[in-house]
Amino acid sequence: MHGAIDLGGTKIEAALLNADLIPIKRQRIDTPKDDYEQLLKAIQSQINWLRSTANDEQLSIGIGVPGVVDKKNGLTLTSNLPTKGRKLRQDISNLAGQDIPLENDCRCFALSEANDGAGAGYKKIFGLIIGTGIGGGICIDGKLSYGFNNLAAEVSHIPLPSTMVAKYNLPLLQCGCGRTACYETFVAGPGLSRLAQHLAEVNLTAIEISARAEAGDEKMIHVLDVWVELCSHMLDMIQLLVDPDCIILGGGISLIKNIEQKLLAGMKKVALDNTHPPHLLLAKFGDSSGVRGAAMLPLLDNLEE
Ligand SMILES: [Zn+2]
Repeated sequence: MHGAIDLGGTKIEAALLNADLIPIKRQRIDTPKDDYEQLLKAIQSQINWLRSTANDEQLSIGIGVPGVVDKKNGLTLTSNLPTKGRKLRQDISNLAGQDIPLENDCRCFALSEANDGAGAGYKKIFGLIIGTGIGGGICIDGKLSYGFNNLAAEVSHIPLPSTMVAKYNLPLLQCGCGRTACYETFVAGPGLSRLAQHLAEVNLTAIEISARAEAGDEKMIHVLDVWVELCSHMLDMIQLLVDPDCIILGGGISLIKNIEQKLLAGMKKVALDNTHPPHLLLAKFGDSSGVRGAAMLPLLDNLEE
């Protein structure tokens, strides 16, 4: 068996996976939001639960976190957790008495989908989660590709193309990263809502917008078309920088009907002449891919800091 912990901004989920990396038991507890010591205690209690449930004190465990884990100094940078300036991996491993690898949750998703997931059989895959935020991960031959700062695949904070800003008169909004006019401000789930506000002056969630578009609402069809155009530019950026064989979509936005066909058609419109778009695929393991990838972290030999 294998253990995994999904450390989120509101919940800490522990998952016990069988030998085939299928989750068989889960336990969720609230995330202490203000105090680092309390956060460590909560993670330790989930590690204890995993060990006792598996009846294995040496159970391999990996953790996915919603932020960037600096490979050089072990610092974990995330806006949702009280970990600023802390070496989370080191502190958890010391408490647990075993090495517990830590990785960005979107990188875990990419790792999971690259190994026996939707990306099986492809050499270079880009895992892309579009939900409340946007995150990604790059895998080559089933292994994560990190980059100098472990920032590779953070496409959400690339600025929107000026052509699109001008075409739709898009406001330059503040992003959670502290900068302005990042892709995330209009392409993540809440970004789709902002787009509907800007283009149609309605307050709707991403799910409501896609449902209305599907039912034939002309205004929402237009909003979704503009969103597809924006997202296609972001995918084009991924192709220009990484040129993956396939892009695997996860997160709430991937639930929009036929989203992969819509984005493939969008990519063909914006791509350079005489280039082939990557295969666009939906995640095979859905919401379980995060814990599946986290459980894989201790099993791989390229993840040592
Ligand atoms: Zn940003």
